[in-house]
Amino acid sequence: MSKMTGLEQSQYHPLVGVPMATLKPKQVRKNIHLTLWEKLYVFEILRGLFVTGKHFFINLVGFVLPPAGKKRKVFTVYYPEEKVTLPAAYRGRPVLVAGANGAEKCVACGLCEKMCPAKAISIVGGERAGGERYPVSYTLDMARCVYCGYCEEVCPKEAIVMSSEYQGLAQRDRAILRYSKDQLLRSEESVKGRLDYIRRIYSKCSY
Ligand code: SF4
Ligand code: SF4
Repeated sequence: MSKMTGLEQSQYHPLVGVPMATLKPKQVRKNIHLTLWEKLYVFEILRGLFVTGKHFFINLVGFVLPPAGKKRKVFTVYYPEEKVTLPAAYRGRPVLVAGANGAEKCVACGLCEKMCPAKAISIVGGERAGGERYPVSYTLDMARCVYCGYCEEVCPKEAIVMSSEYQGLAQRDRAILRYSKDQLLRSEESVKGRLDYIRRIYSKCSY
């Protein structure tokens, strides 16, 4: 086998070995060069305190002395009677997404199980009569989950997403927090906001 010259080698990525020309430019800036002002550190802390303080006092004054003709604005909600609408970026309990036929979209590839840093996912895969793979059982231990979202990010089928569900996650008995496939299954419609969000966000990343 002929050896590559130094120039030919530099045209390939040193780690993944694919041609550099085919790689998309990185969107995440890790080598950020700080200005002298930022390197002095203390001024940035003071700037942060100023921004936080500004919002605090604006809200406080608006609460104590509401503008004429307006009711005092209340910043709290009477949970659980009142619920807040969470943004699509919120990462609550991971749930499995069902396809149009009502069955899970998951093909039991095991990527989420492998990727989960908390080892919260256990899957037993099987095959349907037509040769299609599916999870015979899918268990998610929410007592271990750290809500990192890696399972969602790695899934090739959009079969698991971070939902906006946060109720029932504080339990005295850890066994209650072991969710089965049926307990995790949600319709695609109910997690549409999150699906749109991850399509937008992950398409920005280049790995
Ligand atoms: S959110 Fe993170 S910790 Fe939780 S199940 Fe997914 S990969 Fe595991
Ligand atoms: S990565 Fe997606 S398709 Fe693969 S096992 Fe996990 S949920 Fe199922």
